[in-house]
Amino acid sequence: MPARFALPPSLTSLRNYVGGEFVSTDKRFDNVCPLDGHVLAQVHEADAALVDQAVQSAHKALAGPWGAMSVDERAKLLHRVADVIERRFDDFVAAEVADTGRPVEQAKKLDVFRGMLNLRTFADLGKAAHGDFFEMRTADGADLMNYTVRKPLGVVASISPWNLPLLSMTWKAGPALICGNTMVVKPSEETPSSATLLAEAFHEAGVPPGVFNLVHGFGPNSAGEAMTRHPLVDAITFTGESRTGSTIMKAAADGMKEVSFELGGKNPALVFADCDFDAAVDGVVRSSFTNTGQVCLCSERVYVERPIFERFVAELKKRTEKLKIGWPDEPDVAMGSLISRKHQAKVLSYYKLALEEGATLVSGGGVPRFGDERDHGAFIEPTIWTGLADQARCLREEVFGPVCHIAPFDTEEEAMARANDSVYGLAATLWTTNLSRAHRVARRFHTGIVWVNTWYLRDLRTPFGGSKLSGLGREGGRHSLDFYSETTNICVKL
Ligand code: NAD
Repeated sequence: MPARFALPPSLTSLRNYVGGEFVSTDKRFDNVCPLDGHVLAQVHEADAALVDQAVQSAHKALAGPWGAMSVDERAKLLHRVADVIERRFDDFVAAEVADTGRPVEQAKKLDVFRGMLNLRTFADLGKAAHGDFFEMRTADGADLMNYTVRKPLGVVASISPWNLPLLSMTWKAGPALICGNTMVVKPSEETPSSATLLAEAFHEAGVPPGVFNLVHGFGPNSAGEAMTRHPLVDAITFTGESRTGSTIMKAAADGMKEVSFELGGKNPALVFADCDFDAAVDGVVRSSFTNTGQVCLCSERVYVERPIFERFVAELKKRTEKLKIGWPDEPDVAMGSLISRKHQAKVLSYYKLALEEGATLVSGGGVPRFGDERDHGAFIEPTIWTGLADQARCLREEVFGPVCHIAPFDTEEEAMARANDSVYGLAATLWTTNLSRAHRVARRFHTGIVWVNTWYLRDLRTPFGGSKLSGLGREGGRHSLDFYSETTNICVKL
């Protein structure tokens, strides 16, 4: 019987894209569908020699037609790539769903629509970018004019995670390319398919060879490590685990490469008694369980003001237990599978640990059984705990699954201290209808992003990134353009 979810027909095997050509290799690994464990395709792993070829061709393309193009011409090409994605929308959705096991509607919105939007938004922002201009007169009467010009950094290596594959890759490719850089990109070994389609889109759109190169493989002793150590790579943009970020930073240090890191999180949500109760419960369901909890911005720690604590836990449990887990194309499905059986084992180890650490299980805690091929997949129940001490490992380490722990608090001061007591600092969410409190509390979070009475609404012009172990630098809007450009100041004596 054919599998219910498969890759689009062009992806019979997943090849690298180097110097404008699709390249096969002898070493292959399986791309496995996490919905039922079947093999979707063979992936051609790039070795250090092929990575070198990709970097060399990116380096060469800097000086070729790409380097000679105006920003308007580059923007036109990026829009053309987005047009191809739009035309092949269903192929991209199929690839994302088969690779990640997420609901079709989420793949449409979170990945494929956002993928197009990333390219179009940064193409337009790049055209509107401007530099600085200053005039001054020195003490001895000389008139000076200073202005800045932006130049590309060079070859950018982009290494992506598996949780939002097309979104992550285009979020980097859009700004890097509009700024005139060339790229070597590596998707996660878990999600190679949409990246391969993206390479097809660049090819079809007529982007010159060498501008966008794709290599497949793993991190250590594979394509990822080879990219970070290559002397002709000028900058590394990385999204993934904090520990991996630290390894990459060490590799980058020798060549003094620019780095931008978007890393892990253990995000708090604060719910005050004066909140819009319904909106807050719905918001926490969304912020904890969207994409089966596999969004770096998900709230895994929820603090609720004591007068509404019991009611909040009861209502959250009720609404969580209504979330439908199932095939990505079932009507009203809310959660698909996790990314892999390996990740399922990791999340389940936290389910076990939480109970050992003294948690009360409010909901979930196990694996759903379907009695069909999904039992070979990586499904898991959304899980709510209460009763853990603040120092419990389950409250300090990122689980990256559909979990949330709810704890009561009594004062704003106490809630802030507990929310900020983390090695991570990516995103925080706040639920209150008190305007003064909203502004007062929002600015006190030690995080790069704060949402008030909402979660995960993004304006691509705004800065995005984390503090502490959650990242280095900011991307988004002009912050991306600044990262992907080298600025030269020119001082002219008039
Ligand atoms: P990961 O760090 O295991 O892998 C990410 C990528 O790095 C993969 O492509 C992998 O092959 C590569 N890699 C691994 N080791 C490497 C090495 N030594 N050198 C070069 N490349 C290497 O992360 P993951 O499991 O794919 O993704 C989940 C993590 O990503 C979570 O921690 C999540 O919070 C984080 N994340 C953060 C953001 C953000 O914006 N802050 C967004 C999405 C995901």
